[in-house]
Order: sequence, then C-alpha cells, then structure tokens
Amino acid sequence: MKYCARCCYPENAKPTIIFDDEGICSGCRYHESRGKINWQERQEILKEILDEHKAKAREAGNPYDCIIPVSGGKDSHFQTHLMKNIFGMNPLLVTYNHAFNSQLGVRNLSNLVEKLGVDLIRFTANPESVRKISRYMLKTVGDLTWHYHAGIRTLPFQIAVKYKIPLIIWGEHGFAELTGLVTLEDMVEFTKWTRQEHDMRGYEAHDLVNEESGIEEKDIFPYIYPDDEEIEELDVRGIYMSNFYYWDALGHAKKMKELYDFGIHPGPREKTFILHGKTDDHANDVHDYLKYLKFGYGRATDDVSMEIRHGRMTREEGIELVKKYDAVKPRTLKTYLNFLQITENQFFEWIEPMRDTDIWEKDGKGNWEPNDSIANHISDQGIETARIPLVTPEDRTFGMYNLGFYWREDLTIDNSSQVMRDFQTSSDDFIIL
Ligand SMILES: [Zn+2]
Repeated sequence: MKYCARCCYPENAKPTIIFDDEGICSGCRYHESRGKINWQERQEILKEILDEHKAKAREAGNPYDCIIPVSGGKDSHFQTHLMKNIFGMNPLLVTYNHAFNSQLGVRNLSNLVEKLGVDLIRFTANPESVRKISRYMLKTVGDLTWHYHAGIRTLPFQIAVKYKIPLIIWGEHGFAELTGLVTLEDMVEFTKWTRQEHDMRGYEAHDLVNEESGIEEKDIFPYIYPDDEEIEELDVRGIYMSNFYYWDALGHAKKMKELYDFGIHPGPREKTFILHGKTDDHANDVHDYLKYLKFGYGRATDDVSMEIRHGRMTREEGIELVKKYDAVKPRTLKTYLNFLQITENQFFEWIEPMRDTDIWEKDGKGNWEPNDSIANHISDQGIETARIPLVTPEDRTFGMYNLGFYWREDLTIDNSSQVMRDFQTSSDDFIIL
C-alpha cells in the first residue's frame, strides 16, 4: 500500500485520494491551497450573499433568513456564531435526532440553543425505524450510521421548502477537508448528487424499502428529498463556510469553548486522542472501527493527518497514534449489537465481503490481517522533502495552549471546568432521546 509522504493517508482512502509526483496526497494539497486564498475577499462575497437573503426574507415577511443544519458540536456552534453574532442573521437551526446520542451531545445541543439564543427544529426518528435502517445498511454497505448522514443532509431541505427559507449554511466540506475531493477555487455548493453519492453511499431512501429489510414507507420520511421542482421554485442553495473561512477545527473549538462554554469530551477515548470533535454521536467509535475493518485505517488516521497538515504534529508522532488507536475494537460495539439485535459473529460475517483485499489478507487460520500499515512507511522516499514547518512548541497538538483539547496519558489535562466534571463519569452513556 502506498501512503502519503506528508500525512498518514493510504491510497485506498475514501471517497477518493490522489497522490502527485512528490507522493503528497490531494487532501494535503487542498489544505496547502488555503494559504493562497484571499479570505477577506471571500468573506465579502459571503456578506453579499447573506445580505441579499436577509433582504429577501424581510420582504417576504419571513422571520428566518437561513437554515443551519446542526448536531450541536463545535462546528454547529461556530456556524451559528457566524450567522447570528457576526453577520446579524436570524437562522433557524435544524437537527436530525439519530437516536445514538451521548449525554455530552445532548448537553451541547441545548447549550447551543440557550447560549446563542436561536430557534431549533429537532426531528426525532423513532427507534424502531432507526433499528431497521441501521441494521439493513450495516449489512448492505457496512454503515450503521447511514440514517445520520441521510437525515442531516435531507431534513434541512424539507424544512427549507416548508418554511420557504432558501439558504442553507453548511460548515466544512468534509470530503474536501480529508481527502481533497474538490478544490477551494471551485467554491462548490451543496449538490443533491454528492448527498446521494457520498453521504448516502449511492442509496436513496426508497431503495431501502423491501421485504428483506422490513423497511416500509413510513420509516423513511426524514430521508426523502423534496421534488426538484420545489427546490428550483424556491431556488434553494447550500453554501459551505469552509469556502469563506480558513477552517481549523481546533481553533473553532477553542473559541466556542471560550465564548459559549462548548463542552469537550473529558477523555480518554478509545478511537482517537481528539477531545473536541464528534462529541454528539455515540456510535462514532463503531463507525470508525467499521472503516478500519473495511479499509485498514480509522479515525486516528483522519485526525493525525489533519494535525500534521496544520503543522502541529510530526508524521512520526502521528504514526504512533495511528498504531495506538486505529485497530482498537470499541467497547460500545456491544451496545450497538444489542440495539440492532444481532450477534458479534453476524456483524463480522456481514463485514467480511466488504474487506478491501488490497490491504486485508486471510492468514492460515482464517483470520484477517492487514498486509501493510503506515508503520512500515516511516522512511519512504520523499518524506523529508514533503515536511512542512512545525508551529511553535506551545501551539503543537500537545502543547500548553492545546491541553484539554487532546488526550495524552503523560500530560495532565485540565478537567476543572463544570462541563468536564459533569461528564467525567457519564460521557460513555448511550441515550436514545
Ligand atoms: Zn497527505
């Protein structure tokens, strides 16, 4: 397997990654291209778009001038902060309740609404429908969180049409951030195609309705995209804030903690060292484990690659963390097997045909083993020239200003805030509503 000379991504990274002549991946190049963008000019463009929508909403007598799809995490806080307190918009927040909540996630969602003083529509899918969909999509495409992606990428459009709010404010373009699927010059907007192709793995809601799945029409309402005519008539558009702001998850999390008391995971976590991301969603660990089972890399690879690109971590430090986290089987797997009413054997049987045989091989005893890993690529050709300068020691991933945002056993983490105390013991709890 070929690995990026700068970060830790393998060439089978999903959805698509490209390596250039210097052995550097498209995600690293995307990140690098940010340095060439005139962000002030971008923010002026954003202001124009927002002013236009604000004026239209006023003219139409609509109290809301944009929709923000939220989960309650750091990006939700940041997007709402931008819209409400920087640009003076009156957003309507929309969230799809996927039923796999963590206590901290529920706390952060209510914190968002309370501290930023905004209205929220929360659609709660009934657990039985979630169970059927999650189980079927686990079996079909190896994804137990399909309903999250489908829900949060669809519901805001249903609400847009219903309440006649034609502007949807997304955070980062996730696929661009990780593997550089698009370029910053393109200033891409949300499309129905990427929603289906990437977020929903090529499936529309109706594809799930059949005898085998037991999924019925009544189970799929939140995932049905409005008719093209309705979308066109209202002229709905979805814009990504990562096209207008230099995107730095850590920077945003710090600011949101300081301004609005955004809550951070107390750590340790099983699949990553990052404490400020994915706080809302309790099935993450299993989701990340599934990625590992299929493609041989997991969440830690995503997270260290981002840190390396920001110059906060060396590639060697990143590799150590990948070795520590990516292969871990999370304790929450049991919780979800119970919820889905399947056995662990069943789980592994379903995943078996989805193993990427470019990385996975069966040994003599019938066990799957990866035939390569980033740990074998510490001194590949091109690594020295691919390096980017590190930031000051204080700002490094485990530097003094970043303590509390990352987990490392040998460093004391400041757990003194109220939020941390509250969640010290309960952050692993799984709650349905
Ligand atoms: Zn890379």
